[in-house]
Amino acid sequence: MSRTVKAAVMVAPGKMEVQELPYPDHLEPGAAIVKMEMSGICGTDKHAFKGELTLYGGTESEQDMVFPSVHGHENAGIVVEMNDKDGPIEYSGQPLKVGDRVTNCPNVICGECWYCRNIHGYPYCASHQGIGMTYRADRFPYIVGGWAEYMYLPPKAWVYKVPEYLPVEYACLSELFVVTALLDRAKEYAAYGGKGFHFGDTVVIQGSGAIGMMMVAKARLLGAGKIIALDTSPTKLELAKQFGADLGIDVSQMSDKELVEAIRGETEGRGADVVVETVGQASVLKVGLEMLRRGGAYLETGNFVDTGGTVTLNVHRDLAAKNVLLYGNSNHPHDGYYVALDMMWRHREQFPFHKLITHRYGLDQAQAAVEKSFDPEALKVVFVP
Ligand SMILES: [Zn+2]
Ligand SMILES: [Zn+2]
Repeated sequence: MSRTVKAAVMVAPGKMEVQELPYPDHLEPGAAIVKMEMSGICGTDKHAFKGELTLYGGTESEQDMVFPSVHGHENAGIVVEMNDKDGPIEYSGQPLKVGDRVTNCPNVICGECWYCRNIHGYPYCASHQGIGMTYRADRFPYIVGGWAEYMYLPPKAWVYKVPEYLPVEYACLSELFVVTALLDRAKEYAAYGGKGFHFGDTVVIQGSGAIGMMMVAKARLLGAGKIIALDTSPTKLELAKQFGADLGIDVSQMSDKELVEAIRGETEGRGADVVVETVGQASVLKVGLEMLRRGGAYLETGNFVDTGGTVTLNVHRDLAAKNVLLYGNSNHPHDGYYVALDMMWRHREQFPFHKLITHRYGLDQAQAAVEKSFDPEALKVVFVP
């Protein structure tokens, strides 16, 4: 009898199933198999569970997440097999051996198209695939996602060696920290007068989920002045303070007008220098723009999946008259992982990263785990296969 792998499979919107999938009978050149230790449930997975499937809508890369699929792209596990005959599998050419702990970037790009050759870091590739998103579980290699006992990392996947001293939680959370590279991008604009993210700037983070929390930490590390976290959960706002926020504002009972007034009250009447959107709802963009000072920067990253959400802007008032820098962002750069692993560990005393993982589930509780991730008090829910 051939070997099987227990996996939590998303078979349809709203429906998880525990299945025995075939263990891949061969490894393509450049592929590896990892025994999973931990895999997070991301907002993207939650969108798929709600039937919101479109990634990179309106671009050459537009594609839908598929069913049935093994999700899980925030991964940590141990290499058990690999096919490195054609070259090294690890990201920067380091030797990799069976038994090493690794994490991976979800993005698999062709490396040959115009975008792959001209734009570094962010995956604009038209033939982009997402590990734990766009691979079907009913055809070889079946287990291209982390919610399983074993995961198949396909050829061209970016694979990073996790330092031996680093706890598995840090490896699993590293992808979230890499997303904060958006704040580094905003820093680049500080070369232009009054634009971008300057030392001492007031930064507002819309949404205090796991990504929001990482943004707070990163803003602190990059030299923010006042950091204001927004959310509807008092528990999350308290934790945001432990991550470096000076102030948490519970927006659940506030009108947009009251919120804008509150932010102005914290900024000598001007508004915030930088606002980062991590809520993942289009509707928060308008109030976010209104919180900005003239010439401020708005960093959009939460709406990674196309929910069909639209907003109406007064282009003169919301953008032009205020000289807003509006920075759209999807995904994260694959060159950020080693930096993330290193910097999270260096600052482990300053930021309680381990508190971001609020719930752990076995694969057998797949349905309950994914449902739990929608609980407003849950931060990162993980599978421990
Ligand atoms: Zn993610
Ligand atoms: Zn490409």
